[in-house]
Amino acid sequence: MEAQRTIADIRDKVQSLKAKGRTVAFVPTMGALHEGHLSLFRLAQEHADEVVASIYVNPEQFAPDEDFEEYPRELEYDLEKCEQEGVAAVFAPTDEIMYPGEQFLSIEVNELNEYMDGGSRPGFFEGILLVVNKLFNIIEPHFAVFGQKDIQQFRILQQMVAEFNHDMKLIMGPIKRANDGLALSSRNKYLDHEQRKLAPGLFRSLQYVGKQISDGAKNVQLLLDHQKNELEAKGFKIDYLNLFSFEKMKPVTNPEVDNKYILAGAVYLGETRLIDNIIIEK
Ligand code: AMP
Repeated sequence: MEAQRTIADIRDKVQSLKAKGRTVAFVPTMGALHEGHLSLFRLAQEHADEVVASIYVNPEQFAPDEDFEEYPRELEYDLEKCEQEGVAAVFAPTDEIMYPGEQFLSIEVNELNEYMDGGSRPGFFEGILLVVNKLFNIIEPHFAVFGQKDIQQFRILQQMVAEFNHDMKLIMGPIKRANDGLALSSRNKYLDHEQRKLAPGLFRSLQYVGKQISDGAKNVQLLLDHQKNELEAKGFKIDYLNLFSFEKMKPVTNPEVDNKYILAGAVYLGETRLIDNIIIEK
């Protein structure tokens, strides 16, 4: 299948679907598609008649010292996967299409990006909101599907949709994992053999602490500190490993009943940054 390269072309394509009375679910991606992305296409198909995907490595969400240049780009292979999954249209724009000339506007995030990835990667969510806002205005889908893997992204986009009145429903897809528990990620390609063997350790730590919290453990900080030490001893560098409220994406020490929490971690194995999380509903 062919990707649509211009805004006019993808709009035409989406309009022709809508003109036939078809509902549209949109799945934005940065490509290098894996089973996690494909699971979102399948979830999208459960909610809408047609799935539209985008494949775009958004420069605005990478800091100068991050992996924008190295990020895997495999458009031909990705398009084959989209075709196999029955995706109706793929928007794969260039930087010139997405950012023609100087940009004078941006979207600022308050509070929700102080911790987790927002805390560690200044400007990251502003870059994401900029591109997703553009993409939403181009596609105007009925639904948009995002992964729990990037849960802070989901939470902030939920707010963007509500506050900016995007007329669509957001859907969150669960995290697809390898057999050993590692959350699938396009960045897993960077791991060498030894690092790949260690990588599921992050999920195991989250699972262990999550179980303790669900079983009523009170001293969450102690549990987290212990897991951090264990991970560090195995060769992980910890960016964060903590319990956060879903509502505010802020650290929580005493989880209360009837609330939703995120137990989330970001770690480095060598240069590769891995993130993972589990949702805890007390
Ligand atoms: P990315 O291409 O990394 O920007 O991801 C595109 C979408 O796929 C985002 O909504 C991610 O949260 C989602 N995603 C990434 N990894 C996974 C995974 N392992 N399982 C489910 N969804 C994922």
